[in-house]
Amino acid sequence: MKLGPPNALPERTSRWRWLWVLPRLAFVLFVGGVGLLLWMSDQADKEEKRTTLTSDILWLEQNLRFHLARNEELLGRIDLAHAASAKAFESFARTLFGFESGLRQLIWLDVEGKVGQAHPAIMDRGLVGEAMEALPSRQSFRLARSLGKPVYSSAYPLFTNDWQFEVHVPVSREGRVVGVAVGVYRIRDILGDSVPWWLAERYRISVVGDSGKVLGTRSKVEAVVTEEGYEVAFDPPGWGLTLHAVPYRAPRPLASILLSASLVILAMIVLWSLWILRRHVLRRQAVEEQLRQEHAFRKAMEDSLDTGMRARNLDGEIIYVNPAFCRMVGWTATELIGRRPPMPYWADDYLDETRAIHDQVLAGDGPEEGFELKFRRCDGEVIDVLIHEAPLIDAQGRHFGWMGSMVDITERKLADERHRQQQERLQSTGRLVAMGEMASSIAHELNQPLAAISSYCTGAINLLRNHTAASEVIPALDKAVDQAQRAGQVIRRIYSLARHSEHRVEAVDLAERIDAALALVDSDLRQKAVRIRLSVVDRALIEGDPVLIEQVLLNLLRNAVESMRECAADLRSIAISLCCVDGYAQLRIADHGCGIDRTIAERLFDPLFTTKPDGMGMGLAICRSVIENHRGRLVFEDNPEGGTVFCIMLPLASP
Ligand code: ADP
Repeated sequence: MKLGPPNALPERTSRWRWLWVLPRLAFVLFVGGVGLLLWMSDQADKEEKRTTLTSDILWLEQNLRFHLARNEELLGRIDLAHAASAKAFESFARTLFGFESGLRQLIWLDVEGKVGQAHPAIMDRGLVGEAMEALPSRQSFRLARSLGKPVYSSAYPLFTNDWQFEVHVPVSREGRVVGVAVGVYRIRDILGDSVPWWLAERYRISVVGDSGKVLGTRSKVEAVVTEEGYEVAFDPPGWGLTLHAVPYRAPRPLASILLSASLVILAMIVLWSLWILRRHVLRRQAVEEQLRQEHAFRKAMEDSLDTGMRARNLDGEIIYVNPAFCRMVGWTATELIGRRPPMPYWADDYLDETRAIHDQVLAGDGPEEGFELKFRRCDGEVIDVLIHEAPLIDAQGRHFGWMGSMVDITERKLADERHRQQQERLQSTGRLVAMGEMASSIAHELNQPLAAISSYCTGAINLLRNHTAASEVIPALDKAVDQAQRAGQVIRRIYSLARHSEHRVEAVDLAERIDAALALVDSDLRQKAVRIRLSVVDRALIEGDPVLIEQVLLNLLRNAVESMRECAADLRSIAISLCCVDGYAQLRIADHGCGIDRTIAERLFDPLFTTKPDGMGMGLAICRSVIENHRGRLVFEDNPEGGTVFCIMLPLASP
């Protein structure tokens, strides 16, 4: 869930760049190494060929020398008898030619240089016989005769491309030169006799004159020759003759070709795989970069969220929390990730409830519309959160956990509470205002006790005028005083309520308040012939304002009396019952009046709602307000016997 910081990106890229140098370097080294190997192998091959060429040409030169030296020796063995007889000379010559000597012609010259014998016979004087007259043959003859050693003539052409040279071998008898044996060599024949076939297959062997002209060549095949060649001086036969060998361009061995080809193919495969790898890595880098940016974007979004995000696996273990969640509960991600229930942020006072909803979510039965919980921050503060849970599904579609989004609604709840209280205060104020208005109405209604007081007082005066004993007047005056005090209390209490002062709170005995209220409506009851059936089952003590409670009872009794205005005389009764149920005092006032129509039932407690021509429609509104201020409820229902039952529920005072 954690990524490196965004600024790690350039560092990674530069490292990748360095990493890329390595395969390239390796490839260059590989290709260079392979090339060097091939070049070295080629050089070694060439060197070997050159060495072979040198040794071959030296061997050939030695072979030729040996050939010529042997021929010199054989020529030196010529006998005068041979020279004297043409037949013997021919036989000697044939023997000599049989040695593959390369000799083309054998000539016997006497000391004067005249041709004695020749085999084959000299057909053309211009060739050899006359050659004695001309250089270089004459020179060679003289030199050989004077030196007493074999002397070679320079090469001369017989025909255009057929060169030959001679060897003049002086023949001595008893210390005196008696003649010269001349062996005529044709260069082409020498090469033909002396150069073995295997050498001719490898090289083109040539004899080159001092002017650079090729005098004879031995080659087995007509093939392309290489530039490189080797030449060696071909002396003493020489007169500037050189033996020149040029190797043929041999086809490269198949193994070498295969090796080179496989190396080239290998290098190309390496290059290709490098290219593929590079493309793959570049694509991967691009995708990684895209992923990194997307992740950074999502993380930035998550971090900027005010909604806490928490992911859990199927075992309930936390696998992810976002910063907003950490801020909400005050624990760090490290402290939370890996935790299993009970979580450190579960509020101690709500552990059972929290665990129940936790199990419900893990079982997949979490409320879809979300749920509210209380969490405890690490500093102990309890907060309200609204949680929505959704299943976590992976790329393969497997359900692997739960993602919860959390909103801190503590402030909202406080605001709601404040708003509710404010509304309540407003309602209360409205009711109190209405009550203030009602006060004038009630004050108006106080006319009755005042009238009673007045009539008591009038009665007392009349008694006094008739000189009745004072003891008989006193009860009437006491009653008048009681009525006056009660009326005064009502006025003071309602006046104080209208001025928004708090109502008194004291223990109120409801049975007593019923009696007091009945006393207030007593004359009315009698006047309308309404009977009262009182049933006090339990003694009910509540906490509240006795005058207001009394006023409520008074109002409900008056409404009950008025509802029975049209009623038959025998039905005019009000049943009052008092009992305690589940910690509440239940006071029911049942009449047999006209009842309440369904159409007006909903508006009954609305201020100013009345069905009476002279009614104010404030009585029930004030009654409900008073009862609710005492944490109770005021409801009504149809009386099964006809009429209506008003029911007051008030919490009993704690013992
Ligand atoms: P008012 O008595 O001035 O009309 P209330 O708020 O006390 O104002 O009563 C409102 C209306 O509720 C009455 O007009 C009457 O129609 C109806 N009501 C109240 N008590 C009873 C009852 N016991 N039986 C039938 N109707 C009643």
